[in-house]
Amino acid sequence: MKLIERPSPNHAARQSAVDVLVLHYTELPLDESLKVLCDGKRPNRVSAHYVLAEDGTVYRLVAEDRVAWHAGRSHWRGRDALNGTSIGIEIVNLHGDKHDYPDAQIAALIALCRDIIGRHPAIEPRNVVGHSDIAPKRKVDPGLRFPWATLAASGIGLWPAGGAMPLVGDMQLALQRFGYPPAVEVTTDDIVAAFQRRFRPGRDDGAADPETCALLADLLDQVGHEA
Ligand SMILES: [Zn+2]
Repeated sequence: MKLIERPSPNHAARQSAVDVLVLHYTELPLDESLKVLCDGKRPNRVSAHYVLAEDGTVYRLVAEDRVAWHAGRSHWRGRDALNGTSIGIEIVNLHGDKHDYPDAQIAALIALCRDIIGRHPAIEPRNVVGHSDIAPKRKVDPGLRFPWATLAASGIGLWPAGGAMPLVGDMQLALQRFGYPPAVEVTTDDIVAAFQRRFRPGRDDGAADPETCALLADLLDQVGHEA
């Protein structure tokens, strides 16, 4: 893995241990992404721990023991403001709903994620999340073309197996049990759409149909919750 140091001034002290890994796409080409994420004079200063170029080159902007500013308003498994407890990777892609991620980039991402999880074993598979998982509706990255199943096959993050019985009961509570935010500022349909974007990218219509309910039941089963 080719690693280039590109320090960003945008970071803060960590108060809590890392147990979440957040994946993003940049929306910008590499040069512009590095510029924005290393700009200490913007009104809204942003950063990430790593930027991953399309050819697989890794740029390190912020040390993992410092907080980077990538998640914004966010929620996962009962906690808000995930920057404090997460590592953020910005993957160069102009729009992950429209553009595939090159193989070299995904191979490097898998290696990088393995390294990070090795250093922070508290990052359980269910805590490898997309920005769209922790900020439904507000964020759509890393997008519908992001190969979550490939990552899961490499031991990074979860992927549902088919064939579970659809769960019955309150969809919103079931989503929250997995980690998704409560329906505050967004609707349950928005959160269902975020779930589908991640776990059923073929149809992210926000409808809690039987297939969606079965996928969620399978995932809850994988993390040891009753569906
Ligand atoms: Zn993002």
